[in-house]
Amino acid sequence: MENNMNISPEELEKMLEKAKADLQAKLDKMTPEERAQAELKAQKLIAEDKAAMQKLTEDAAKYAAAPCAKPTPKFCPNCGAKAGAGNFCEYCGSKLRKTDD
Ligand SMILES: [Zn+2]
Repeated sequence: MENNMNISPEELEKMLEKAKADLQAKLDKMTPEERAQAELKAQKLIAEDKAAMQKLTEDAAKYAAAPCAKPTPKFCPNCGAKAGAGNFCEYCGSKLRKTDD
């Protein structure tokens, strides 16, 4: 029996018709205000999704454009020694970058 595991097109059609009828019945029970509210809620959810996607895209673009977000100078501006990873020069102790950023 080939169709044992599958839903026949007729059955699928029936299921879709039933789902449509259920949805219509739900909508018919709603007041216009409730319908408008449901629509607003759906639109808000869609907008939030879009905003989240937009933010993810922007963040990804930011990281791609600037792999090093906080650049440190390569040499000490005071004594010219090679700068390490810290905020201060290992040799003269002067600030390598502004600490207020
Ligand atoms: Zn220095």
